[in-house]
Amino acid sequence: MIIAIDGTAAAGKSTLARRVAQTYGLPHLDTGSLYRAVARDVMAAGHSLEDARAAAFAAKRIDPSTLGDPNLRLRGNGEAASVVAAIPDVRAALLEFQRAFANQPGGAVVEGRDIGTVVCPDAEAKIFVTASAESRAARRHRELVGYGVEITEQVVLAEIKARDKRDSERAVSPLKPAEDALLLDTTELDIEKAVAAALHLIDK
Ligand code: C5P
Repeated sequence: MIIAIDGTAAAGKSTLARRVAQTYGLPHLDTGSLYRAVARDVMAAGHSLEDARAAAFAAKRIDPSTLGDPNLRLRGNGEAASVVAAIPDVRAALLEFQRAFANQPGGAVVEGRDIGTVVCPDAEAKIFVTASAESRAARRHRELVGYGVEITEQVVLAEIKARDKRDSERAVSPLKPAEDALLLDTTELDIEKAVAAALHLIDK
């Protein structure tokens, strides 16, 4: 069984996808880490994030063993990832790895922005997770403050809105729910309730 979990930035996708994967005993791929790793490698090589050739070059050479790098989750990296994610050759280069992961025997939980629409259009279950921008900003702000980052909630809100805008307006694989995706709004839900709601949708 392939379970596709897509959604907006900071809507709780990763926690949800991990918990769903645990429940079903399936491997889990956070595809955002691929785009984050491409951005990291482009910058490390001294290129601009808009440099399509350098980004495609990095995407073709991604080392999957580096995807757990905790630095990939740092603030600012999501924004950098969304810049390289708008480059068609980058998306094309990452497609095969994502599909191979999804299609392993027994299936997988794959989370991202275009899993239900592009990577795994035939997934058995598709969930599109979102929440109001304000509640996503409040959660992300709490998390950052917990890590000792000094930042206001307004700045976090502006960053989240900018990322959603770039992800939804790009020409290739824009962020949008698949037609057959089930929508999960986590604005009013804590993580336990969100997990229960997701499992309920998948079991339907
Ligand atoms: O999910 P995460 O916040 O780690 O993703 C970082 C960025 O990578 C997103 O804002 C988006 O631009 C890009 N991304 C994508 N397609 C995916 C996963 C992530 O375009 N399947």
